[in-house]
Amino acid sequence: MGTTPPTGQAPDGLERERIANRRKHWVRLVTACNSRCLFCLDSDTPRNVFLPLEQIYAELERGRREHQADKVILSGGEASLHPGFFEVIREARALGYERVQCVTNGWMYAERSFYTAAVGAGLGELTFSLHGHTAALHDELTQTPGAFQRICKAILRAVRDPAMITNIDVVINGMNIAYIDKIVELGIRMGVREYDLLHVIPQANAYTHRDRMFYDVAEHLPRLRKVFRLDRLPGFYIWTNRFPIPFLEGLEELIQDPHKMLDEVHGRRHQVRRYLDAGIPLDCREPERCRHCFIEPFCTTMDRVVERQHDHTWRIWWVDRALDDPRPAPAGIEQLGVRVEVASQLDTLAARTELGLYAWIDTPGPVLERPGQTLVAATPDHLEAWIEGPHALLILLTAQTAAWMLAHRARLAAALERVQLHQPSHETLAEARASDVRQPADFFTQLGLPIRTSGLPACMAPGTVLVDAPALLPAALFDPLTGRIDTRQLARFHVTTRYRGRSVRCDGCRVSQRCDGIHINQIRDQGLRQAVPLIQGPWADEAERQLRARWPTPRACLGTGLRPKPVAASLPGYPEPSAVAPDPLAVIGAQRQAWRGARAARQRQAARPEPATRPGPEKRSPSAVRPALPPDEQR
Ligand code: SF4
Ligand code: SF4
Repeated sequence: MGTTPPTGQAPDGLERERIANRRKHWVRLVTACNSRCLFCLDSDTPRNVFLPLEQIYAELERGRREHQADKVILSGGEASLHPGFFEVIREARALGYERVQCVTNGWMYAERSFYTAAVGAGLGELTFSLHGHTAALHDELTQTPGAFQRICKAILRAVRDPAMITNIDVVINGMNIAYIDKIVELGIRMGVREYDLLHVIPQANAYTHRDRMFYDVAEHLPRLRKVFRLDRLPGFYIWTNRFPIPFLEGLEELIQDPHKMLDEVHGRRHQVRRYLDAGIPLDCREPERCRHCFIEPFCTTMDRVVERQHDHTWRIWWVDRALDDPRPAPAGIEQLGVRVEVASQLDTLAARTELGLYAWIDTPGPVLERPGQTLVAATPDHLEAWIEGPHALLILLTAQTAAWMLAHRARLAAALERVQLHQPSHETLAEARASDVRQPADFFTQLGLPIRTSGLPACMAPGTVLVDAPALLPAALFDPLTGRIDTRQLARFHVTTRYRGRSVRCDGCRVSQRCDGIHINQIRDQGLRQAVPLIQGPWADEAERQLRARWPTPRACLGTGLRPKPVAASLPGYPEPSAVAPDPLAVIGAQRQAWRGARAARQRQAARPEPATRPGPEKRSPSAVRPALPPDEQR
């Protein structure tokens, strides 16, 4: 969210990608909140924590230094409750953030003096959380009488301010789904043209109140699509947030940017770390929840990565261009994966390792044949150079290599035993659009060769031999200091290679239980219409036969009850973790609980009648034994 003011043109997918990937940094100021939303995702977090200013400033500084963020989003709880709120805004601007955004329930900004002071400090964007079109609905959802009146007052104030970027987010849930169009209409009447529509997920309060919070998306799809289509009007921006991909067929430009998954994982990093280092599953892990959870694809990727570590079934240790990476490969690895400029660089590498080589050579040319060696053919020039040679080839399917293969079908046919064709996945929509072949199914139909193929669902690779993608483990996945899987890198690995989606129509497909779907950026680029359920015909029969032979039982995911994995392994030569760093907020929560327990004990003690005559040690006043207050209680 947070576009520049409307230009009069509906943004295309690439423009949306650019906006969504502006470098931004989320900084939490408080867990305190003056609303009690029925769907609150923060209700599991220790409440009423006001983070110390030094900690907030350090986090602001980290966002500039590590992520080069030029925008900061102040969040909570309700960030505006922090007593140092204005100082935080000023500090953010002083550190160089061009834009300071705050996500808010609007309560504080209803006061003119508060709004003016925030703007004066440098606040430039307000995202109002509006969940109902009437006071009855909004106040019920936020459990805060008067909240609707105040948020409307604040929105009107912000919209009238030409220097303020104003947008609205709505948590769509079972209580307001029937009025989602009316909520947006109200926002439009107030002058807001940018909306972030958040789908409820089974966490915290939203799960506690699931009977009222969850809804049948299919049943309400017409109303939702009516709102989504506003995005096509010039000057309007509609964003979806955690909205299930299968229901966005025909509106794929609204699929949330997959990098949002990095934020989701970051928000759960302590729990993810605890799982990887101590084998303790995330608190929310239960199939009933996971099957409705937007984060499920990541959690399943995490389990599959760890499972392969345990089974020693990773085959390629991909160091990319870091040819001098000294870290030894994990057990089970057969090939060292490298990217080099010229073939001669492979000679030095081959002398240093007992592993075979899996090599992407920028400049194609003659290459010495070695046992266990695979060459990556990424361009027509690679294919020209190597198709007749002795090498095992992994051909990357792109618009260019596809054209070459169609033009040289006979040469490719003669090499079928040595080649595997792989549909690469891309981290961004821009890369997918620049590289991917249009309509892969048409390409395979034209090619008409039983070529071993990976990276595509069966419906998009008719007539091929469906095989696994190369089992490539990126060295970058591991923290160089600890030899442990890095949570952020794992999330990127997921986004780049494993994040897949399907259409609602896939439910009717004969191989749906053995299909991971289409990579997210291929969907965002070419649409879910590429998924054509296999129902009958020779290819449906053959694809089902092949996939059943590969996976006699359907592959489990968290939603179907995949069992938690044991602790992930460190790289060879690194110690296994001995302790798990605690979640700082949980530590503060425990301190608060201890303090409250001590206070209750004191009160009980004070209420007890004094023994009349019994001698004893000298009494101390209650204040003398009072433990130090947690910082937020000292306010
Ligand atoms: S998929 Fe399951 S374990 Fe993972 S975040 Fe969602 S509910 Fe929690
Ligand atoms: S389940 Fe969907 S994506 Fe997979 S093969 Fe069938 S139609 Fe294609």
